[in-house]
Amino acid sequence: MSSTEQTLSIIKPDAVERNLSEKIKEEFKKNGFNIFKEKKIKLEKNEAEKFYQVHQSKPFYNDLCSYLSSGPIIVMILERENAILENRELMGATDPTKAKEGTIRKKYGISIDKNSVHGSDSPDNAKIEIDFFFKD
Ligand code: ADP
Ligand code: MG
Repeated sequence: MSSTEQTLSIIKPDAVERNLSEKIKEEFKKNGFNIFKEKKIKLEKNEAEKFYQVHQSKPFYNDLCSYLSSGPIIVMILERENAILENRELMGATDPTKAKEGTIRKKYGISIDKNSVHGSDSPDNAKIEIDFFFKD
């Protein structure tokens, strides 16, 4: 039995700025993801702080929130079987220098902070993050 799962994906400012959005969307499609919803937005700093709340105790929290709100991003709901884990696999490790060959972060990431994409890490967070951007 198979069932479709949803996850939240973000193409981060470094990738949007380098015009990599279409290439990255192709990576998702090529790997069996349906882009169920998408929008291009720019977050305010306080919105980025809310989104990354779980990291508020980390030393990089302030820089992370400044960065995510530094330019346009593309937020997407991706769908496929096992979407959350499959997307984490396709993204690769947080640090692009440690990401496996063929992953999005290996191909396009610049550094641990400018790593081109975000993806939900669990079913609970996928729901929270989808609601954060797409709740009407
Ligand atoms: P992931 O995005 O792989 O789920 P985390 O949830 O641990 O990684 O971290 C969220 C984001 O914070 C990362 O994507 C990265 O942009 C940034 N980040 C993580 N660790 C560091 C670090 N040591 N220094 C700077 N930025 C970091
Ligand atoms: Mg994370």
